[in-house]
Amino acid sequence: MSGTEFARERRRLLREVEEDMRACAAATGRDTLSPRVAAALEAVPRHRFVPHGMESLAYANRPLDIGLGQTISQPFIVALMTELLDLQPGDTVLEIGTGSGYQAAVLARLVERVYSVEVLLELARTAQRHLQESGSDNVALRIGDGRLGWPEHAPYDAVIVTAAAPEIPGALLDQLKTGGRLIAPLGLRHAAQELVLFTKDANGGIHRRIILPVAFVPLVEPGAAETATPGH
Ligand code: SAH
Repeated sequence: MSGTEFARERRRLLREVEEDMRACAAATGRDTLSPRVAAALEAVPRHRFVPHGMESLAYANRPLDIGLGQTISQPFIVALMTELLDLQPGDTVLEIGTGSGYQAAVLARLVERVYSVEVLLELARTAQRHLQESGSDNVALRIGDGRLGWPEHAPYDAVIVTAAAPEIPGALLDQLKTGGRLIAPLGLRHAAQELVLFTKDANGGIHRRIILPVAFVPLVEPGAAETATPGH
């Protein structure tokens, strides 16, 4: 597929995402993407963030395997999470779970600086390369446990968590500015998860709003043995 064809595919995908936005408006409170978020989705070459050989699937509105049991999130979910953060051009954003780097590349077009933490070295390396190749030079990556955030650059205007935990790690709320927004999937691995939007008010109070049911890979404890529960 040529660059022009990929661009056409992105515009088609954007229309599908807008349809999903309208269909879910009652739950999300947003019936359309803001022009900045739409432009970012139209610009970021998602086909560069999927494994070789899967480029032709890059603009389907669904998650894809990126290896090591991880996924690149569904475009609609990337768009929705980004939208709900109400990002401003001067913002600094923390992402937990770099994965393919695609979400980071979308954020990079909307804000001043993106800090992203990934626990799997191999994924972080690939994401770094793809981010560089796609010209996202305002993204910094770190390999480590994202549940601890990235305190050196805190506080953040917004935080986005792209792996699910039963509860939001306290360090991530601590590293959010007052007036800031944090979006995360919450729930157990084998149970229903919900996308939750947290806001921190001027007094440091935390408010949460449940947005939609979602299915994300788990936010893992590095080094912890996988607790497989066959049959569940
Ligand atoms: N934002 C990604 C989707 C990531 S999938 C994208 O656009 O492609 C979730 C990612 O979270 C996986 O890469 C997984 O390895 C990572 N992850 C899981 N637990 C983590 C932890 N404790 N710290 C940092 N990253 C973690």
